[in-house]
Amino acid sequence: MPDLTDLSLLQVQRLLQQGEISSRQLTQACLERIDRLEPALHAFITLTPEKALQMAEAADQQRRAARSVPSAPLPPLLGVPMAIKDVLAVEGVRCTCGSRILENFIPPFSATAVERLLQAGIVLLGKTNTDEFAMGSSTENSAYGVTHNPWDLQHVPGGSSGGSAASIAARLAPAALGTDTGGSVRQPASFCGVTGLKPTYGRVSRYGLVAYGSSLDSVGVLARSAADVALVFGLIAGHDPRDATSQTIPVPAIDLDGPLSLEGLRIGVPQEYFIQGIQPEVSAAVQAAITVLQGLGAEVKSIHLPHTEYALPVYYLIAPAEASANLARYDGIRYGPRLSGETMWDIFFHTRGQKFGPEVKRRIMLGTYALSAGYYDAYYGQAQKVRTLIKRDFEQAFESVDVVAAPVAPTTAFRIGEHTDDPLAMYLEDVFTLPANLAGVPGLAFPVGFDGRGLPVGMQLMGPHFGEATLIRLAHAYQQVTDWHLRKPEV
Ligand code: GLN
Repeated sequence: MPDLTDLSLLQVQRLLQQGEISSRQLTQACLERIDRLEPALHAFITLTPEKALQMAEAADQQRRAARSVPSAPLPPLLGVPMAIKDVLAVEGVRCTCGSRILENFIPPFSATAVERLLQAGIVLLGKTNTDEFAMGSSTENSAYGVTHNPWDLQHVPGGSSGGSAASIAARLAPAALGTDTGGSVRQPASFCGVTGLKPTYGRVSRYGLVAYGSSLDSVGVLARSAADVALVFGLIAGHDPRDATSQTIPVPAIDLDGPLSLEGLRIGVPQEYFIQGIQPEVSAAVQAAITVLQGLGAEVKSIHLPHTEYALPVYYLIAPAEASANLARYDGIRYGPRLSGETMWDIFFHTRGQKFGPEVKRRIMLGTYALSAGYYDAYYGQAQKVRTLIKRDFEQAFESVDVVAAPVAPTTAFRIGEHTDDPLAMYLEDVFTLPANLAGVPGLAFPVGFDGRGLPVGMQLMGPHFGEATLIRLAHAYQQVTDWHLRKPEV
């Protein structure tokens, strides 16, 4: 029997179904590995080992019972351990969002995506580290300390779903949920050498996801392969009446058993994504991966997404504007800790002043300014217009290609502390991921190589709205003929 933590999600699912392993064994193996590596990595904010063992025990019991009295099919992920980013509510488990302002908040309900996974039988290992309210690209903005990249502990894991990405790369869990408002699933997936999907906006319910930029937020999946990601995506996607922006379009079953050929698929390579200043090893690895896809039969052509350069300023107006409104609810009255004060305003002032971190305050101020009377049209209004142009770029591109292939980030994982004094340099890490959120289209990141220091390089595929299946099929085909996604960091 191999080390259970080395197995992929699909492998553990099969072994559990065949009765070769128990959920208790598997969960224990994950918990032991977490115990050993967590001091170096700090991928989790909250661990739930007792709950995990209870859930595993219950899963094993349910499986045993079904064996003696065969009944309805068992839930698809019965007994599979997973990690959940700490911005998604899990009933009865502390949800901090990486912030001191929610340090004692215990949600009375679960997010829809989480609820669907619980229905599917998962075992909860814990809540993973994140930049405060998912604002950041490195997890350095977490109030609970930085997560370390399993490939090199001196480097960031990316962010804001850095805890989820590190946990997958380090084999602490076979799959995890993350969220992506401007790249927070894809960029950490890229920095940690794992596969991460940001679905189409509205494809996965946002109910129970603590709001950051509501018109951009999406719940995504991180795992070690496209096939593993597809399995979880299929379970969490689909309409939810509790989220008004959730879409009713049916979620197709994703068939990955067919032949490998990509014959007839057209891949567009946007010239605006190969800019000056990009780390040469990143563009080289991405170009090489495109050549592999071409070898599998895809047709590759150069395209233009002319408004790409505006994505950064547009995003950094719209996201903070929406955040400033969304974060108004943390006032010390309704959620989390309350600091004392003479008047209600004093309570707000003390609680928000002391419990929000510097990046969150920066964004609330930026967003409040951009929305203020007199500036609204010039900033927020104008940004929304340019957002439409960015969306049109994609619509036009998808008239002549099926998918767009590009780097995930201009660099590989940077060093811890490298950008902390320079917010603009940090924001620049997001140039290639922001456009998909502004346009609402899906994006899938997966590993395509390593740089000279042994840090992973990622590529992303973007598709038309609701085109997740094509992205997954392409990445799966790539992963059938390459082994970057199987490499394991030595922690
Ligand atoms: N890095 C981006 C930001 O700081 C995106 C974060 C995200 O996707 N949650 O806002």
